[in-house]
Amino acid sequence: MKFIKKFDRYINTVFIITIIVIIATSFFTFKEIFVRSTQKQQEAMLPLFSLITSEIIRPITVSQYMASDPFLLDYIQQEKIDEAVVFNYITSVANKFNTLSFIALEKHQLLIDSTNKITDLRNENAEWYHRLKAIDQTKFTDFGDAENPHLFFDVKMFNKQQEFLGFIGLAVDLDHFSKQFKAFEKNFGFEVYFVDDKNQVTLSSSQLMKTTYHHRRDFLTNINELEWYRNYQKAKKNNNAGVNTSNDDDSIFNFSTDNLIISQIPIIELNWRVFIVAKPVTQLTAYWQLFIQKLMIFLLVSFALYYMFTIVISNFRSDLVKDSEKDFLTQLPNRSFIHWKYAQLSNNYDHVSVVLADIDNFKNINDTYGHLFGDDVLKVIADKLSENLRSIDLVGRWGGEEFIFILPDTTAQQAQEIVDRIRQNIANIPFTSSSTSKKFNITVSFGVSNSSLAGVALEDILRKADQALYNAKSNGRNQVVVHLE
Ligand code: GH3
Ligand code: MG
Ligand code: MG
Repeated sequence: MKFIKKFDRYINTVFIITIIVIIATSFFTFKEIFVRSTQKQQEAMLPLFSLITSEIIRPITVSQYMASDPFLLDYIQQEKIDEAVVFNYITSVANKFNTLSFIALEKHQLLIDSTNKITDLRNENAEWYHRLKAIDQTKFTDFGDAENPHLFFDVKMFNKQQEFLGFIGLAVDLDHFSKQFKAFEKNFGFEVYFVDDKNQVTLSSSQLMKTTYHHRRDFLTNINELEWYRNYQKAKKNNNAGVNTSNDDDSIFNFSTDNLIISQIPIIELNWRVFIVAKPVTQLTAYWQLFIQKLMIFLLVSFALYYMFTIVISNFRSDLVKDSEKDFLTQLPNRSFIHWKYAQLSNNYDHVSVVLADIDNFKNINDTYGHLFGDDVLKVIADKLSENLRSIDLVGRWGGEEFIFILPDTTAQQAQEIVDRIRQNIANIPFTSSSTSKKFNITVSFGVSNSSLAGVALEDILRKADQALYNAKSNGRNQVVVHLE
């Protein structure tokens, strides 16, 4: 029994250690993934900068270049122009930079774009033209085309006499733009916000930028409404966090808290600022979700396996235990089991009768009919001994041709009555030897003793039972003798 408990403890310990080792290993593996991802996140900043350059800075530069192209300016000042020439010019630029381009001519009141759409500037679609023309500023960014939203970079054209000639520029496809930044957000957890001089979020990779809002400035979100920005401003004021090259808004500013890494980059050409808001990788819920998910599956499988394993083990073990508790020949409980059982008795009972039984002249039976026949006799008698006992009673093989009865809550007199019935039953069994066909009977002698269970060792009771048995033998065998105090 002690061994079994030890075995159980051993199995449980091995199981727990295995689980801990696997969890720890996978945790550290994930940690490593986090570290690598952080590196990847940092490396991704560079392509992000170049994406900003190609998507925003380049269109502005190209627009400004076109607005100062002397050949173009000369051509559009002519009284009569060939629309195809102008169209070819802007189309070649549009194709080269994979954007939309357009030109609006004051003199001819025409708006030509690279999709070959020609609009009269007096048309209400060209409302922006008159609105921007009236503003004393040379460069503009404007949202247009609600169905296919674009960010337009409009640059005013002037001749040498500083007379206004119209607008020229490029337009960035916002769907394409947001897809590019979305990809960054998805892969590296970046959010990118473009903010104009009025603190409006003009573009962003997050849900803030809804397609229907592109052409309506009134609907734009003010960056002050965003929580991360308010925290960022506070930290900037206190200047106790982050690395700041200068307090000027036009400089690159990095700010980091436990929760966010915020980089601010100015776009001087537009008087805009770009904010790159990144969560540290360990905070990225996706990673944790993955880890927890894997861990859950692992634990579930482990416990299922453990459960199956314990069932198999306990079946196997109970067979093993049963075998180890039994005497092989008679299938009765053996001596060690009797000892263990006796030790439990005092928990439930206060007195017990112990009976020792010994087959009479068994040596003769062996000598006369052979040892194998003796074994068969032992089996038959063992079966008879265990008949008609209560469930709380126990009969076991004590050794050789000796048996023991443990009868809890039974007086010596009751025990005597019980075993005397058994004695008579055994004495009436007709045995026949196969070799000689001779019929004969076998008898058993019994010694009974009774004792309180409190602090009494089995050996003490047995000694008295043995004395009674000795008396039964000397009195002529085949009888029950009770030990008298
Ligand atoms: P008594 O009436 O005084 O008990 O006489 P006895 O012959 O039974 O006593 P003794 O102790 O001298 O002999 C017991 C015999 O039981 C000796 C041994 O050979 C036999 N015996 C013990 N265990 C087994 C067994 O497992 N199988 C067989 N066949 N014989 C056994
Ligand atoms: Mg004997
Ligand atoms: Mg005997």
